[in-house]
Amino acid sequence: MKCVTCREPAIIDIRRHNANFCAEHFLEQCRRQVVKAIDEFEMIAPGERALVAVSGGKDSLAVWDLLTELGYDADGLYLGLGIGEYSDVSGRHARDFAAARGLKLLEVDLPERFGYDIPTGARAARRAPCSACGLSKRHLFDAVAVEEGYDVLVTGHNLDDEAAVLFGNTLHWHTEYLGRQLPVLAERDGFPRKVKPLVRLTEREMAAYCVVRGIDYLVDECPMAAGNRHLTYKEALNDIEKASPGAKHSFYFGFLARAAERFADEAETDREGLRACPTCGAPTTAETCAFCRLVERAGGARPDPSTATAVPVELGPTRAGAR
Ligand code: SF4
Ligand code: ZN
Repeated sequence: MKCVTCREPAIIDIRRHNANFCAEHFLEQCRRQVVKAIDEFEMIAPGERALVAVSGGKDSLAVWDLLTELGYDADGLYLGLGIGEYSDVSGRHARDFAAARGLKLLEVDLPERFGYDIPTGARAARRAPCSACGLSKRHLFDAVAVEEGYDVLVTGHNLDDEAAVLFGNTLHWHTEYLGRQLPVLAERDGFPRKVKPLVRLTEREMAAYCVVRGIDYLVDECPMAAGNRHLTYKEALNDIEKASPGAKHSFYFGFLARAAERFADEAETDREGLRACPTCGAPTTAETCAFCRLVERAGGARPDPSTATAVPVELGPTRAGAR
């Protein structure tokens, strides 16, 4: 197996590109794909300040590393979810990565700041853990990006993630979600611009990228992920990809090119009546935003001390912190 660029021994084969790469040219390939995504979808302009949502896993650390390597001004934001040992270790990976590179990492700790952790909070609010977690993450990433004046919020969603979400949304015909399943969401109505620079790269490539770059990332799955339908969709797509290399890419990018626009109206309808939450100021179509309702119901559930983490909070009050 030889590198397609230099003919030296290759370390990875990428079947959908019908190409093998040595370590050096694989890194080059990853950077090229990120530059292509940023340019094609006009994700980040030179000189803009980016905030990267960092979990300590391979994708978020890789995207932070890639943006920094490409010369972007990018800080990180880590949320302590209070998921026991998993959160302790993920926080350590995020902090070590930032410290080793002299990068700025902001932190918000859910139990400390809002009085609930994901396992107990989800139970109290009668939500699935991933639903309470997703809601908390979306709200706080948005809130901090807006309040701290970042131009753009970056997430580490890769091609596997996007194809799996698209698969789920199509399977259930969630047309309002299909209309906004885009690699860039423009800043509007109090939400920051959100971008996904890894959409042209896969999970496997991001793991390889971290190994080659010497990035020590959290390998373990979140203990709350068991039974998550997203993982089932990923496995199904992996089987299809094995039989038909490039299927995920053509599914997702074909959707963007030929179908996404058709659902734009429904996504728009979903936004009608957006106004500021009276409690925290976040945009919402309800009386009180979903995050404040979650805090209300879950905040009374005292976090289990054995699962709570205590990391320093380096931020000023977020919108929700004004409660
Ligand atoms: Fe949160 Fe679910 Fe992801 Fe765990 S698996 S970090 S609970 S969204
Ligand atoms: Zn609110």
